[in-house]
Amino acid sequence: MSANVEELVDELLADLPPATTPAKEFLGAQFDRGLAWLHYPKDCGGLGLTPKDQQLAQSRLAAAGAPISGVKNPIGYGMCAPTIVSHGTDQHKKRYLRPLFTAEEIWCQLFSEPGSGSDVASLSTRAVRDGDEWGLNGQKVWTTLAHLSKFGCSWPGPTPTSPNTRASRHS
Ligand SMILES: Cc1cc2nc3c(=O)[nH]c(=O)nc-3n(C[C@H](O)[C@H](O)[C@H](O)COP(=O)(O)OP(=O)(O)OC[C@H]3O[C@@H](n4cnc5c(N)ncnc54)[C@H](O)[C@@H]3O)c2cc1C
Repeated sequence: MSANVEELVDELLADLPPATTPAKEFLGAQFDRGLAWLHYPKDCGGLGLTPKDQQLAQSRLAAAGAPISGVKNPIGYGMCAPTIVSHGTDQHKKRYLRPLFTAEEIWCQLFSEPGSGSDVASLSTRAVRDGDEWGLNGQKVWTTLAHLSKFGCSWPGPTPTSPNTRASRHS
């Protein structure tokens, strides 16, 4: 881990001692200083560094008793944040990443359906365009943290005409 990252982590720990700082405040500062996801770009709670830097910074923070973002918001942290960083607009990144990281906004994953678990190609939920928005028609089940979630990432089924209609979680 570069000396600079070590310094930044130690500065955060000194400025906001985890033992006496509310988790939301600590995680908010961690995000604002680019120490949320060091390997993400600067406008996404990162510093544009490597996953290795992220791992080392996270171990240093955990060793100091710092709150860990993914514990309260595992699907948001592990699935939705990378999706927003890879496919989101600047507006999406600005609006969703910080409250996701501080766990103020919990996310869930809306994939499984009563008739579709492993067989993703048989998903029957459809996304229907409605002006600037999309409406989802369908039913989802097994949604971990749904009762606490403000947002969800979903995977509406392929339209009948799309080529790869025979995909599965097993292929
Ligand atoms: C604790 C828990 C939390 C979950 N949280 C979420 C969540 O947050 N969001 C969400 O969307 N879903 C969630 N799920 C649902 C999970 O994704 C599904 O259970 C999983 O995809 C399997 O689908 P299924 O249960 O319908 O089983 P099925 O797809 O019916 O599979 C039944 C069995 O058949 C086997 N099988 C199926 N297809 C094939 C194949 N082509 N070849 C060989 N074997 C096959 C499977 O391996 C399995 O052993 C959760 C499930 C659990 C248990």
